[in-house]
Amino acid sequence: MTSDSSSSADRAARATPSVACSATASASTSGSCAPQVADGAPPSGASPTDPFSNCTHCGFCLAVCPTYRLTGDENNSPRGRLRLWGEEAAGRLPRDPWTDFYTDECVGCLACETACPAQVPYGELFERTRHEHVVAGRSRPGALLRLAAAAVSRPAAFGLALLPARLLRRFGFPRHRFLPRGQPALLQGTAAYARELMRRHQPTGPRVALLTGCLMEALFREINFATVRVLIENNVQVFVPDGQACCGAFQEHTGLGGVAALQARNRSAFLPLAVDAVLSNSSGCGYALGKALAPDRPVRDVLGFLGELGPVRRQRPGDRARLYVDLPCHLVHGQKAAGIPAAVLGATGHRWELAPNARDCCGSGGVYNLQKPANAQAILAGKSAFLNTAEGQPVILGTANHVCMMQWHSAGATGLVTRPYEVRHIIQLLDPGEGFTVRRPASPRAAPGAAG
Ligand code: SF4
Ligand code: SF4
Repeated sequence: MTSDSSSSADRAARATPSVACSATASASTSGSCAPQVADGAPPSGASPTDPFSNCTHCGFCLAVCPTYRLTGDENNSPRGRLRLWGEEAAGRLPRDPWTDFYTDECVGCLACETACPAQVPYGELFERTRHEHVVAGRSRPGALLRLAAAAVSRPAAFGLALLPARLLRRFGFPRHRFLPRGQPALLQGTAAYARELMRRHQPTGPRVALLTGCLMEALFREINFATVRVLIENNVQVFVPDGQACCGAFQEHTGLGGVAALQARNRSAFLPLAVDAVLSNSSGCGYALGKALAPDRPVRDVLGFLGELGPVRRQRPGDRARLYVDLPCHLVHGQKAAGIPAAVLGATGHRWELAPNARDCCGSGGVYNLQKPANAQAILAGKSAFLNTAEGQPVILGTANHVCMMQWHSAGATGLVTRPYEVRHIIQLLDPGEGFTVRRPASPRAAPGAAG
């Protein structure tokens, strides 16, 4: 948890400016406070070498920022945060607890990057600032998050430690707001499963290396298993490299260190492989791994890869379900994917449509829903309300990130959504199950998006 447990959702109900001013005035040489600094006006005397100075203060990012929309507070917007960081970096604003507060308030959704005509690298600046704040003791992730960050760097131990959690998911007890039921394998890992299926089915198509992830593998490995089945059914050769590590997203989300070491391990695990593509089935993990392997090897989302192959279509005669598709922030704003291919969504066999505001953040933000639960819940409330009246029986919310799945599941558990609905990874809706045969092409075709 952060040192300040209050939130925008709490603060939106109160008048904040006077509080913010009093917190800053004692340290500010000018007697100004955070709201006065971050008023949307361009900073005076910004240096061209200042990484914050290419923000033109146009405000295009405000409308897409979930924390600005929640509070209407300029300091809680991309432009405001950039201004606070820039003023502090230039020495015009002293170190201030409200700068720390507004930094912690950012979900890290990167919607502002997509909206920004000046191409301000907000995500990079945010990650750097957040890490600097943690190092300087200005922000302190809670003990459990620090423990988890240490554990995920040892995937095998982390997987073993979460064996009881896999067991609980299988039997659905005790119920947890973030944990949907599922059927994760208790002991067999994805690497062994992929080897077994490769031996049994002997696909001959494109060769891919799959990132299995830390939390995904430890807690939601049935999604990894489904990914392996879908790929092999589509004649893709799947390899799960030994020695792969957590992608580093967990450390980035918390501002903790150790990212470089994880990136180095993943470079050693993935770069020597003779494969056509490196794939991830979690958009946040794929985005983080992409930064680790850049510029040598692009990382692709598995759904985008399958879209180019044209996956085997599931047949669902008489199906009355409606699939509402949400697009994870780290897919569309992080990886800059156009979305999830229609060929993939059509192959689920369900009638589908994009969820309302599908490109907006659901409030998950990696661990944001643990660090700022009131904000995360308020953001989710706006996104999830449509499910209460959505057509379909059953109603399925489909996405492409396990952390978003946890957040969407919590909408039912916390009463935001009061009717039954399922939360599924899109790859699970393509899953042929165990008894499948490989679709072998009549003539060989090029691998989609083959890495050069
Ligand atoms: S990353 Fe998201 S929450 Fe943070 S400033 Fe940008 S739009 Fe707002
Ligand atoms: S859209 Fe970009 S340039 Fe405009 S205010 Fe936001 S960060 Fe600055």
